[in-house]
Amino acid sequence: MKVIRQSVKFDRSLLDKDALKVINIINKAGFKAYLVGGCVRDFLLSLTPKDFDIATNAKPEQVHKLFKRSRLIGRRFRLVHVMFSARKFIEVATFRSGKVQVANNGVVMRDNCYGNIEDDVVRRDLSINALYYDIETQEVIDYVGGLQDIRVQELHVIGNPKKRFEQDPVRMIRVIRFQTKLDFHLSNEIKSAIFEQAPLLGNISTIRLYEECIKLFHNEYGFKIYQRLEEYGLFKYLFKQTHKNEFIKKALLNTSDRIKRNQSVTPVFLFAVFLWQAQNERFFVIKKKQCSTSLAMSQASEEVIIEQIKQVSLPRWLSSRIKDIWMIQPKLESMNPKKVKELLKNPRFRMAYDFLLLRSISINPELAKVAKFWHKTQQLNQS
Ligand code: ATP
Ligand code: MG
Repeated sequence: MKVIRQSVKFDRSLLDKDALKVINIINKAGFKAYLVGGCVRDFLLSLTPKDFDIATNAKPEQVHKLFKRSRLIGRRFRLVHVMFSARKFIEVATFRSGKVQVANNGVVMRDNCYGNIEDDVVRRDLSINALYYDIETQEVIDYVGGLQDIRVQELHVIGNPKKRFEQDPVRMIRVIRFQTKLDFHLSNEIKSAIFEQAPLLGNISTIRLYEECIKLFHNEYGFKIYQRLEEYGLFKYLFKQTHKNEFIKKALLNTSDRIKRNQSVTPVFLFAVFLWQAQNERFFVIKKKQCSTSLAMSQASEEVIIEQIKQVSLPRWLSSRIKDIWMIQPKLESMNPKKVKELLKNPRFRMAYDFLLLRSISINPELAKVAKFWHKTQQLNQS
């Protein structure tokens, strides 16, 4: 494979000290370690990396022996986490090849075996994500034209897009995320490969898709990502019960604003918004059968969540909070003076109120007076 080595002096003060430490220790032990992936890409684009990943020719057990405070993780393929504090660790991955090994009975035995740097390059998704940085020589190592793609702002899938999406359909979602985050150009070949392979997302582990969803929508451009997922026919494989509406748009823009202002965000809110209309439709059907509002709300919530977790799993705590937010809505709407105190004390009140407020300025303008009532009530109770 042809390789380009380009000398690039990254500002050392911007490189993660702990990641540098890890690389130095591995190199001193006679192996070779590089910074790789998102952090190299982001540095070249003058963005702040989210995390610092390391790739090395040392085997996981060898890396583990070098660091007292490290642990081996992963079953499908093993990684080493070098711990620096309760919250911070640096992930070290051994070079591996993405080749699939199939046993005689046709079962995929192990889709990851160790390899050299060239194997490691071609198992990655995009050329811009397959750049390695050698801190000793201060060179970016590029086997797949990633440097050029960064210059011309284009996304290139390594290998044949159709095949690579078939091997791992999550790559389609990642492509949309990077296209939007970086504002890079996407070729027609990749677009049509996405259209073709979109249904394969239906076979992905629902837990993995949950993690991807958080990455998709908890950022500064979640709404644009949502629009693109719709445009490329991917969204329905994550949320088949969800249909476009103003509420979703407002909620995603609101989430992005909060992130820009460094305010906290929770997936509870987003999932509650995505599924609200479906919950509502079920609620009305069930309510017609003459049961109480709260019983109908509870049943509708359960049913919608059960449908949802067939596509994207939701941790238990999350689905129970989503239900809480929904169940409080009719209580807020009734503005019953006897219930005011109790509602204000409810730990979910604030989020339920924000939810109602967003409904009132998007799909339910008739709720403006209810929103105003609760706004005033909160002010009165604060003073
Ligand atoms: P960010 O962390 O900013 O979201 P990233 O590129 O670092 O972006 P990670 O999910 O942290 O993304 O993955 C690290 C690297 O692992 C990627 O840069 C890419 O090289 C590789 N990678 C991740 N997911 C896949 C995948 N599904 N298929 C192939 N390679 C992948
Ligand atoms: Mg990363």
